[in-house]
Amino acid sequence: MRNVSLFIVIVLFISCGGNKEPKTMDFEAFKERFILDFWKQNPGWASYVGFHDYDSLLYAPTQERRDAEVSFCKSYLDSLNQFDFDKLTRAQQTDLLMIKNQLESSIWYTETYRSFEWNPSNYNVGGAFGIMINGKYAPLEERLTAMSSKMEKMDAYYEAAKQNIKQPTKEHTELAIMQNKGALDVFGPSLIDSVHASKLGQTEKENLLTNIELAKMAIQDYIDFLENEITPTLEEQSRDFRIGKEMFEQKFKNDIVSSYSADEIYQKAVETKKKIHGKMFELTEKMWGTYFNKQLIPSDTLVAIKMMIDVLSLEHCHRDSFMATIEQQIPELTAFVKEKDLLYLDPEKPLVIRKEPAYMAGVAGASISAPGPYDKFGDTYYNVGTLENYTESEAESYLREYNKYILQILNIHEAIPGHYAQLVYSNESPSLVKSVFGNGAMIEGWAVYTERMMLEEGYGNNSPEMWLMYYKWNLRTTCNTILDYSVHCNGMTEDQAMDLLVDQAFQQEAEAKGKWRRATLTQVQLCSYFTGFYEIMQLRNELKKKKGESFDLKSFHEEFLSFGSAPVKYVREMMLEGSEPQLAKSE
Ligand code: ZN
Ligand code: ZN
Repeated sequence: MRNVSLFIVIVLFISCGGNKEPKTMDFEAFKERFILDFWKQNPGWASYVGFHDYDSLLYAPTQERRDAEVSFCKSYLDSLNQFDFDKLTRAQQTDLLMIKNQLESSIWYTETYRSFEWNPSNYNVGGAFGIMINGKYAPLEERLTAMSSKMEKMDAYYEAAKQNIKQPTKEHTELAIMQNKGALDVFGPSLIDSVHASKLGQTEKENLLTNIELAKMAIQDYIDFLENEITPTLEEQSRDFRIGKEMFEQKFKNDIVSSYSADEIYQKAVETKKKIHGKMFELTEKMWGTYFNKQLIPSDTLVAIKMMIDVLSLEHCHRDSFMATIEQQIPELTAFVKEKDLLYLDPEKPLVIRKEPAYMAGVAGASISAPGPYDKFGDTYYNVGTLENYTESEAESYLREYNKYILQILNIHEAIPGHYAQLVYSNESPSLVKSVFGNGAMIEGWAVYTERMMLEEGYGNNSPEMWLMYYKWNLRTTCNTILDYSVHCNGMTEDQAMDLLVDQAFQQEAEAKGKWRRATLTQVQLCSYFTGFYEIMQLRNELKKKKGESFDLKSFHEEFLSFGSAPVKYVREMMLEGSEPQLAKSE
């Protein structure tokens, strides 16, 4: 089916090629051709979003391969120039800008950022195989056959990876070892069982079993290389994980696509932190008599707030019922959104809560995996990190952080009406470009925005406890930005980070340590929450002013989400001009 439509698209494109002034329709055909070509260049990403034609491909990350990627990007950037920007619709203009940004970013990542040299965790096949094993998009036999040819390429893949690595960071080397050990689990007994259970012929089964053994050997060889050849050299000559101010600003520009620079957002986060501290102290004073009736309120406001948070944090679920508590809260949130008429939620798209798969372990405590734009009937998973490996005191620390109040805010953020709802809208949006190249700051900004919006609408009955905990959580978002920028641009140390997170943002030690680790492994991503939130709140204020009495919250939410995961600054332009959501279908 897909090959037929590819053929038609190419014919259409060629027949329009001689035209010096392409009509707006040509851009739709161009997008289709571009996306299909892009998937062939990035087969792992394609499987991830649910386009499975190239599942069997796995390119060895050689210099030749990188050169091909760069010329691919340059040639498509040239093609973009043929379109008369002013003659495109608003929605097409933002698609064009998002494609352009994607291509320019790719070139920058390959030529300047060069993490293929210093980040060994770039090389990990666990995720791609996890999708192929768990996916319901094709019969088991078809998926196993694609997996088998992919496995045959793993030896060359990991050999090229070993060639690429030059003076990596200690942090990314450790992560690569851990994640690749997790990837080995993917090739474990349950995969072998499904080979035996399949309807494949005997020869194919034997081939597959051999390829599984070869795949495991390739991964194990890479782990051995990192443990035995790289790790011993790291004490003397490892690279600093801090990328520095210049690289950080450039990465911020590529990844966030904001109207602000990283430095400006950092300054705003520092101001916001001050304001939040003020609000938290007001709430603490208000509740003091209820919780500490015989004790005087400390003159140090941060100490007083901390005491109040500590008392409220004691209310948490048992470690064994962490997942069950989450499962119980999701229907309550759905009911509230319906009752207050905040957003339409599609009852046909179920949310499945599951234990975080091993190959995903290591970076975040809870996350959403949604079906991509091609997997319209796939399940959305709410991955919950397990507490199984925690000691009693680690578990207690974690549960105080995710106490009764914060756990509800986490579920708003991750599930309803946060990420889950946004991703369902994004997949229904008519722009494949916006679904595929979704903007992280818009996506995170929306989730952070919904936390504030739900409380404003009365979720938690406006109790000072809920609001104080909300501000603590919002302070976390704000401090994510301060931490990220300070670590990478101002040389913040682990001790200084712990002071920021524990003493000024009231986090439990386990959470703060995890956040420090994340700041050492990622860059810029921690800024996306605050940046997107800040820009969405500003947009809502602007529209309230413009529309006055006729402003409607539900319409605002639905219109905002209808544009797909485009950068807030583009959505803002479209919404302030009052243009209709795009009419042209790209699928
Ligand atoms: Zn406890
Ligand atoms: Zn999030």
